[in-house]
Amino acid sequence: MRNFRQPVMILVIVCIVLAIMSTFSTKTNGDETIQSVTEWNMAWIQKSELSGMTPSADLTWHSTTADRPLTELPSGAAGSWVHIVVPPTSPYHHPGLLITKLYGLDVTVFEDAEPIYRSSRGYDFERNIVLVPLTAKPTESNLYIRIESTERAGIGSPVRVGEFATLSTLNVRQMLPNVLLGAAIAFLGLIMLVSTGFFDGKLTKTANALGLFILSTGMLIVTNSSLPYHYYPDFGPILFFLFDTFILILGPALFYFIIRSFDEPYVWLTKAEKWLLGYYIPCFAVMVVYQTVGGSLYFYYKLFTFWIFAPLVMAQLLITIVLAVRNAYRRYGNSMLLSIGIIAFAISGIADMTILFVGHGMHEFILWKFGLVFLIACLVMNLNRIIAADYAKLLSYSQELALFNSQLEKTERMRILSEMAASIAHEIRNPLQVTRGFLQLLSSKAGEENRIQFGMAISELDRAAAIITDYLTFAKPEQEVMVSMDVKQQLDTIAMIIHPMVMLNGGVLHIDAPDNPLTIVGSPSKFKQALINMLKNSAESLQDNGKIEVKAYEENSTVFIRISDNGHGMDEEQLAKLGNPYFSTKTKGTGLGLMVTFRIIEVMKGTLEFRSEIGKGTEATIRFPCSNQG
Ligand code: ADP
Ligand code: MG
Repeated sequence: MRNFRQPVMILVIVCIVLAIMSTFSTKTNGDETIQSVTEWNMAWIQKSELSGMTPSADLTWHSTTADRPLTELPSGAAGSWVHIVVPPTSPYHHPGLLITKLYGLDVTVFEDAEPIYRSSRGYDFERNIVLVPLTAKPTESNLYIRIESTERAGIGSPVRVGEFATLSTLNVRQMLPNVLLGAAIAFLGLIMLVSTGFFDGKLTKTANALGLFILSTGMLIVTNSSLPYHYYPDFGPILFFLFDTFILILGPALFYFIIRSFDEPYVWLTKAEKWLLGYYIPCFAVMVVYQTVGGSLYFYYKLFTFWIFAPLVMAQLLITIVLAVRNAYRRYGNSMLLSIGIIAFAISGIADMTILFVGHGMHEFILWKFGLVFLIACLVMNLNRIIAADYAKLLSYSQELALFNSQLEKTERMRILSEMAASIAHEIRNPLQVTRGFLQLLSSKAGEENRIQFGMAISELDRAAAIITDYLTFAKPEQEVMVSMDVKQQLDTIAMIIHPMVMLNGGVLHIDAPDNPLTIVGSPSKFKQALINMLKNSAESLQDNGKIEVKAYEENSTVFIRISDNGHGMDEEQLAKLGNPYFSTKTKGTGLGLMVTFRIIEVMKGTLEFRSEIGKGTEATIRFPCSNQG
């Protein structure tokens, strides 16, 4: 258990730390050798003017700042010019310029009317990182950037000027945590998908949905980061295709998982689910067609994958919240944890989307990453609890099985013994009776000196007969008729029989039974045999100041008979062996007494339990169903 929990928890914590780092690292810039330019001018390029490679003289320039950048294309515009005044660069060995967020599909940077950087994308990922070397100059200089795009064209972050190598490091340092976070989450999802083979049929689908959901969120984080596009421009189209694909997998996977794991009974939900899942198929088709054909289908692409898609996702998240809240309200424990995680994720997603809509597409999705990490943490904890519970169940099952096995073994042993006992005992009893009769006859005729030997022979024969009676009782305890009997009456008779033996062992016997009748059903002679066997054992165990107490009472329709002595007692091992045939610690013991007793009580539908402590004594409790009328 521990082995599994620790690495997963560490992974989750690392993810959280990375996520926090990636959010806040953009705001810190401790390096003084880097200068930030936060103001620049920009001008829109109309569709008709696209051909020009220098800004035409009649452009209207707008002054913008990094805090309030102008990037959203007004209608009719197809791009923009950005004019940046670069501070003196001669203090640097190899000066450079870094823009971590530049929106555009076709970007050209001009220094002294010379193009020094060009990037052209055939797919719609608009965010660029621009990192270019500059020529060292002692005075301020002008830099022009020409951008073509479909939605946004402009700069959305401060422009940094400094040593090229330092800027390059800064760029990676800022962007990498985000990519790592995404990769870690995607990896987690992948592992889940691979390991769902361990689940059984019904669970597999739900677990696969969850694995897909986690994988696609991780991949979204990776493919929505500018870093891979910057360093692997050749893979750009594939990355962007993956982004679009995983966005379409994410929604259905989450919805499928939530409906399955909350066991919702509503028909409308199942219907809604079908519609929702169905919707994603044309979405995907439009996306694939647009990505291959391009250009002219842009409107449909945007319609399907944004304008219809986004509100749909919102609706889905809202339904999710409702389901999770209801679920948390109805059940506790595991599903509570799951609900909390899902609610946090859904709320963070809705918050992100709302900001996006209100802010006219200027918002970068950040909040949902926290929601996601929280959800994964909840899922992992949930999984841990399920595994722990399963493990406990497994343990109790195996204990039960071991107990059952030993009982079965005992029953089997008893069955063989009783079969043997029945066949042998009966055959031996008759010749014994005959022999005893002849011995008695001979003894009356024998001389004084031989009479003692005859007496010994007869008493040994009686002992053998008693043993055989035990065997017979064990084999066929139900032989005799069952009648209703009063416990007090029986106990009084038993006390009379056993009293001399208790006295012989230097002890006292005390019987405590109520006068109002306690009735049980069974054979009186067998019942006496059972109790005498027990009382004999108690008497034989007695030490100094021996005391045996028999107490009978009724409680909850059960008749209790408790026999306690202050004899030498037994240890755990002996207690466990009680009732086994031939278990005896006495030199002249047979180890049959308790075996027979257990059997008699069992036939009377009662139970017998022993508790004992070495040196202190033994307490036996017999329980019988009460057959009192009224
Ligand atoms: P036997 O009396 O012939 O030994 P039993 O089946 O009557 O056979 O008892 C089995 C063993 O259980 C005894 O040998 C004794 O060790 C132990 N035992 C039973 N009852 C008591 C008791 N009340 N106090 C101590 N030991 C007991
Ligand atoms: Mg005995």
